Amino acid sequence: MMNKRTFLKLFAAVIGSRFVAPMIAWAGGEKISNWAGNIEYSTDRIQSSASAEEVRDFVRKQSRMKVLGTRHCFNTIADSKDYLLSVKELNEAVAVDPAAHTVTVDAGITYGKLSPVLHEKGWALHNLASLPHISVAGACTTATHGSGEKNGNLATAVAALELVTASGDMVRLSREKDSETFQAAVVGLGALGVITKLTLDVQPSFQMRQYVYERLPLRQMADHFDAIEGSAYSVSLFTDWQKERVNEVWLKCRMGAQAFEAKPEFFGAKLATKNLHPIAELSAENCTEQMGVPGPWYERLPHFRMGFTPSAGKELQSEYFVSRKHAVEALLAVERLRGRVGPHLMISEIRTIAADNLLMSPCYKQDSVAIHFTWKQDWPAVRNVLPVIERELAPFKVRPHWGKLFTMSPKDLRSVYGDRLEAFIKVARNFDPGGKFRNDFLNTNIFGA
Ligand SMILES: Cc1cc2nc3c(=O)[nH]c(=O)nc-3n(C[C@H](O)[C@H](O)[C@H](O)COP(=O)(O)OP(=O)(O)OC[C@H]3O[C@@H](n4cnc5c(N)ncnc54)[C@H](O)[C@@H]3O)c2cc1C
Repeated sequence: MMNKRTFLKLFAAVIGSRFVAPMIAWAGGEKISNWAGNIEYSTDRIQSSASAEEVRDFVRKQSRMKVLGTRHCFNTIADSKDYLLSVKELNEAVAVDPAAHTVTVDAGITYGKLSPVLHEKGWALHNLASLPHISVAGACTTATHGSGEKNGNLATAVAALELVTASGDMVRLSREKDSETFQAAVVGLGALGVITKLTLDVQPSFQMRQYVYERLPLRQMADHFDAIEGSAYSVSLFTDWQKERVNEVWLKCRMGAQAFEAKPEFFGAKLATKNLHPIAELSAENCTEQMGVPGPWYERLPHFRMGFTPSAGKELQSEYFVSRKHAVEALLAVERLRGRVGPHLMISEIRTIAADNLLMSPCYKQDSVAIHFTWKQDWPAVRNVLPVIERELAPFKVRPHWGKLFTMSPKDLRSVYGDRLEAFIKVARNFDPGGKFRNDFLNTNIFGA
């Protein structure tokens, strides 16, 4: 096995270069892969649509298909054996409604493209994921999240959406008018149809500062978890679970009334004196500005900058959600697995997310903590470790991230999602009675569960 030093050196060499999207040929009978390269989609039949009308035409002609966003999922949720429809080109419209405090966007737009436009018009989103390169529709449909105990996941910003259903009809759902159907549709796991537009809540634009502290003792984390999480708008704890400490604490602070005062020490951790990458050995060149330098929300909320790759793509990811009230117990349970986890791990991240009311969200009606793992790209090894983590977290009714790797069984999923799963399936069947948008992932984990 490659030792950690050699691995990080190789990894650093690749990510040091400027980001070039790993686009693979779309046509010519070649199959394409997801962003990380660990999944090759099962068909080479790929079409791209640039308008809602084109999407409707395409959907009418297919008996089975899946939509592709920016291909950032690590599992087969986006895969199809039949046809893939890319909405990458559906990325133009950005219409702000200042009275309603909303913006309406094309589904395929990335947060990286949307955010500066929004900021220029004086508006902001409530939160962003670790990277801005992902599509809005793809992110919301898998309940993608950032951090912040008062911040719901990115899907909680959705106020309305437009969907092409299996029949090719266009349906508009809004939070205001379609409460139950809407709550099922927003984190729709790609099972209801092709989302063509989303309307998102916005708020007046704001400035932020980001500070990083190093070496938070594990005991401090356990004893003061609530105070630590409550100390900034968005808090991320990065750890390799070794040496009884959290390696880095990233505090993303809104400027204004209750501005964070960056003292040299934070619960025993030390204020960093230079920008850091979550993996301290790697260059921080591709990371958002730290050291308290003020900047707009969209240049501080993600960890990684838009123009650069957030990683080599040579990685795997898993993430597990448990109720916030079990946060410390669950974190200590994972820490006890450090010997099993350590050899395969690049870094873990701990984030908090506010409760929501979206049926298939892992944070449904419970404030949550998310325990994330960035793994070296060695699936046979990772596949052996995941059940160990899942078993350890099972007493806390753990839920996996829909876009990342997990080995929990359909039965486990049914037991944690309960009646909500049935309610979701009912709505999905209503929009897609023949299963046009289903694939093996959905058939196994949702419809067969
Ligand atoms: C480096 C990296 C960092 C990440 N960081 C985070 C993070 O900080 N937080 C987090 O929660 N997740 C994170 N993720 C996971 C990522 O946010 C999710 O996988 C998300 O779904 C990616 O969106 P996408 O457009 O790339 O989706 P894709 O992989 O393209 O598709 C995902 C699903 O969405 C469906 N879909 C896409 N577009 C549409 C549409 N228009 N209509 C209907 N269905 C659609 C697809 O069919 C599929 O089911 C990260 C992933 C990577 C690779």
